[in-house]
Amino acid sequence: MKFPHYDFLVVGTGISGLFFALKASELGKVAIITKNKSNSGSTAFAQGGIAAAISPHDSPEKHRNDTIKAGAGLCDEQAVDILVHDGIDCINELMHNGLMFTSDEDGKPDLGKEGGHSENRILHFKDQTGKAIQDFLLEQIKKKDNIIILENHMAIELITEHHFHKSKNARIQNCYGVYCIETDTNKITPILANFICLASGGAGRVYPHTTNPPDCTGDGIAMSYRAGCNIRNMEFIQFHPTVLYSDSDPAFLISEAIRGEGARLINNKGEYFMAQYHILAELAPRDIVARAIDSELKKTGDKFVFLDCRQVGKEKLASRFPYIYNSLKDNFGIDASTTLIPVVPAAHYTCGGVLTDYNGLTNINYLYAAGETASTGVHGANRLASNSLLESLVFSARAVKNISSRYNARRDDQSMFDLVPPWNNEGTAPVEEWGIIKHLRKEIQGIMWDYIGIVRSKSRLEKALKIIDIVYGDVLEYYKKSTLSRELIELCNLALCAQLIIRSALVRSESRGLHFLIDQPDKRDISRIDTILRPNFKISLDFKKNLDEA
Ligand SMILES: Cc1cc2nc3c(=O)[nH]c(=O)nc-3n(C[C@H](O)[C@H](O)[C@H](O)COP(=O)(O)OP(=O)(O)OC[C@H]3O[C@@H](n4cnc5c(N)ncnc54)[C@H](O)[C@@H]3O)c2cc1C
Repeated sequence: MKFPHYDFLVVGTGISGLFFALKASELGKVAIITKNKSNSGSTAFAQGGIAAAISPHDSPEKHRNDTIKAGAGLCDEQAVDILVHDGIDCINELMHNGLMFTSDEDGKPDLGKEGGHSENRILHFKDQTGKAIQDFLLEQIKKKDNIIILENHMAIELITEHHFHKSKNARIQNCYGVYCIETDTNKITPILANFICLASGGAGRVYPHTTNPPDCTGDGIAMSYRAGCNIRNMEFIQFHPTVLYSDSDPAFLISEAIRGEGARLINNKGEYFMAQYHILAELAPRDIVARAIDSELKKTGDKFVFLDCRQVGKEKLASRFPYIYNSLKDNFGIDASTTLIPVVPAAHYTCGGVLTDYNGLTNINYLYAAGETASTGVHGANRLASNSLLESLVFSARAVKNISSRYNARRDDQSMFDLVPPWNNEGTAPVEEWGIIKHLRKEIQGIMWDYIGIVRSKSRLEKALKIIDIVYGDVLEYYKKSTLSRELIELCNLALCAQLIIRSALVRSESRGLHFLIDQPDKRDISRIDTILRPNFKISLDFKKNLDEA
C-alpha cells in the first residue's frame, strides 16, 4: 500500500516546528502535522520575549555566563556557546525577513530585563512575543508551495524497524515517519518521511496547575522513549513563580518582565520578602523565587502571595504589558496599577526531554527533536528566562543544516519504506468508560502535584513511583484494548512522562536547580552528571500492540 511520503515531516506548529519547516523547505517537500490548529502550542502564550545579546553593553559571553549560572552547574557549555552565538544570527535573520519587535525611541529593539539576566537583552513584541513570532512564521510558510500543514493530525508512534522486522530483537536504527490519527475521525495512517523533526512541545500537563496549553502532554518525549530514544534530565520541571491565583486553565501567567520593570512580591503581612532569600531579590532565578513563595505560603498557610505592580505605573503597564494589563482587568476584574495581584507558582517548562546532539539529532537515525521536546543541554538544571524561544530557533536551524551537510538531504534506503505496514487495530473496541479515563488523568496530575512539586523528598518520590507504576499499568490496559483517540493517547503519554519524571528525580540524590530535595538540600560537589533514562527495549516492545510478533 502506498502511504503519503514527504522529504520532511515536522510534528508540531510551535516556533521550533515552523522554523525547522521553513528552513527545510529550501531542501524539499515538507509536511507539518499538529494535533490542534496551526497556532497551537506554548509558543503563542510566550509573553516576556526572546533573549539575545545584541546590545552594545552586552556580549554573548555575558549571556553565556548568566545561562550557565542559572543552570546550576548542569548546562552543556558547548551547547550554551552555540545558543548565545547562533541565537544572534537567528534573530537578525528574522528581523531581516521582516519580523518586528517593539522598538525604543531610536528605532532599535527595546530590550527588557528578566530574572537571572545581568543585562537588558530580552527582545519582545509588547507582551505577546510568542504569538508575534508564530504568526510571522505562519505567514512566511503560507508563501511556500512546498509546505503543507495538516491540522488535527496527531502523531501516535514513531515508525521504526520494530514495526516491520521479523525479529523482536531488531536494533532500532532508523525512523521512517509516524503513525498519525486524524482527530476528527480517528482514522489512523502512516505518514512517511526521509527526515522527521519532533517539535511537539513540553509535558506541563502532567501537573494540574500549569501555564501550558492543553497540547502539552509530552507526546514527543513519550513516543521517542517508546521508540528507543534516550531521555535526559526529566527531573527538572520549572515552576513559574507568578501565575494568577484563579481557576483559569491554562493558568494565567504574569510575565517576569514586569518584575524587571519594578514589580515586587509581598506577603499577606505586607512584607516585601524576596530580599531575605536572594541578593537579586525579585530578579533572582525562577527556582529561587518559586521556592521563596512556596516557603512563605508554608509559613503562613496562605494560598497565595501578591505581586505589587503599583510602582510600575499605569502608563507603563498599559503600553509595555497591554495583554496582561487588559486581561487582568477585563477577565479577572483586577486593575494592576492600583490593586495587588494574587499569585502562586505553577508548572511551566520541561527542561529535560529527548536527548539530542548539538544538531538536534537523537540516537535514532533521521529523527531530530527541537524546542521544548528536546534536551539540547542548554538549560541544565534550570532554564534562564527567555532562552527557550531562542533555543527553538537555534537548534531547529542547526538540524536542517545537519541534514543538508551530513545526508545531502537524501536517504538511500528508500525500499525500506515499502515494508511499513498499516496500523493494526485488531482486538480493540471503542472506549465505553470515559469517566475512568478522566479519573486516571486526574490521578496522575494529583500524584505529580502532591509528591513531585517544587519541594521533594526521597520517601515521597518512592511513594509516587509505586503509585504511578500502578496507574500506568491501568492506563496501558485501556490503551491496548481500546480504539485510539486523542484523549487516550494523551493519557498514555502523560502517564509515561510522569513516570519518567519521577524515575529521573529518584536517580538524583542531591538538590540542584529546580530539583530540591528537603532531605538532601545540598549540591553534590561534582561538576556535571546528567540523568539519562535509556529505554528498556523489552518494555518498549511489550508496550506496542502494533508490532509484528512473529
Ligand atoms: C505562558 C507561557 C509563557 C512563556 N513565555 C516565554 C517567554 O517569554 N520566552 C521564552 O523563551 N519562552 C517562554 N515560554 C516557553 C516557550 O513558549 C516554549 O518553550 C516554546 O514556545 C516551545 O515551542 P515548541 O515549538 O517547542 O512547542 P509548542 O509551541 O508548545 O508547540 C507544540 C506543537 O506540537 C503540537 N503537538 C503536540 N503533540 C503532538 C502530537 N502528538 N502530534 C501532532 N502535534 C502535536 C501542538 O499542537 C503544537 O502545535 C513560555 C511558555 C508558556 C506556557
